[in-house]
Amino acid sequence: MGIIASIFKMKCPKCRQGDLFEKPFSFSNAFNMPDHCPVCNQNYFPEPGFYYGAMFIGYGITAWTFFFLGAILIFLIGMDFNKAIILIVIFAALTFIYFFRLARSVWIHIYVKYDPKTALQDEPGS
Ligand SMILES: [Zn+2]
Repeated sequence: MGIIASIFKMKCPKCRQGDLFEKPFSFSNAFNMPDHCPVCNQNYFPEPGFYYGAMFIGYGITAWTFFFLGAILIFLIGMDFNKAIILIVIFAALTFIYFFRLARSVWIHIYVKYDPKTALQDEPGS
């Protein structure tokens, strides 16, 4: 699995097999991460406040996404400005958890290097 696929599938950056977030998904544990990778035991919390910087990535991703979405709705589709804002707010609410997780996934992939030796070699579909 490449790093881009690993980021978007929210896998452990080291082995790219373990999940960064708890499964199965539920709203009560939407933001919970295990302490360690279940496959290679990579520490998901290398230092206190590690994910503080991920907030800025999250702001960047969401701001640009909403900006382009708004531009498309208003200038390309010709939607009324107020309607476009309402749609964007709905979109933001629906994607909030996804972007939060994506920002953390990007962040830890920046800091933790891929180590193929830690991956389970015989796992299918990886
Ligand atoms: Zn791992």
